[in-house]
Amino acid sequence: MIIILLGPPGAGKGTQAKTLAEKLNLPHLATGDLLRQNVSCDSELGKQAKGFMERGELVPDALVTKMLAQRIDQPDTKRGFILDGYPRNINQAEALDDILKQKNIAVDLVVYLDSSESVIIQRLSGRLVCSKCSANFHSKNMPPKIDMICDNCGGKLYQRSDDKEETVKRRLEVYLRESSPLIQYYQDLHKLHRLLADGEAGVVLNKIVHLVEEYNDSHKE
Ligand code: AMP
Repeated sequence: MIIILLGPPGAGKGTQAKTLAEKLNLPHLATGDLLRQNVSCDSELGKQAKGFMERGELVPDALVTKMLAQRIDQPDTKRGFILDGYPRNINQAEALDDILKQKNIAVDLVVYLDSSESVIIQRLSGRLVCSKCSANFHSKNMPPKIDMICDNCGGKLYQRSDDKEETVKRRLEVYLRESSPLIQYYQDLHKLHRLLADGEAGVVLNKIVHLVEEYNDSHKE
């Protein structure tokens, strides 16, 4: 099963995708995490992507799409995967369709996590990320049990440099201009499901799981 989580930065895509992936036993493919790994090990791709990420802009499509295609080629994606952070524009959505078509598969469900701007800003300004396993926490809403230490793996938590107020503004502008047309794109393909994602993470997760169950029930052979 291939599920895409869409939504503005701070809508909870990372948090939901990670938990959902564990629940469904599918890999979580987050292009932001893959890019940050490349930046931290100073790979050629990381060097090319770094500036765009720091400015809150999109990394060029060709670079991200190649990186994602290589990830999809790994054997653990055979039963499907959860996509978080890709596609970010129509060009990437079309590229994804092509990659999947070559494998005779297609996107099953697109879940659009709709969030209000005040909740987005509040979430991003307190967000903490694990340097080892990329799990997300929040200084107020979802604090770790031990200060700045990941509950899951004991890794150190840090604040993403692109979660600064100025960069958040830029990322929201980029989302509105580049990514929000994807809502119509997947609506036209009858794949889009809109969920209000302002509530608690557990409540939102239950709604997503319910959508997945409904989808599976209606596609039983
Ligand atoms: P995220 O972790 O999804 O918020 O992504 C962090 C940053 O990585 C974004 O602001 C972009 O600079 C870059 N990025 C992640 N995914 C993509 C993508 N699909 N296309 C272009 N840039 C991306």
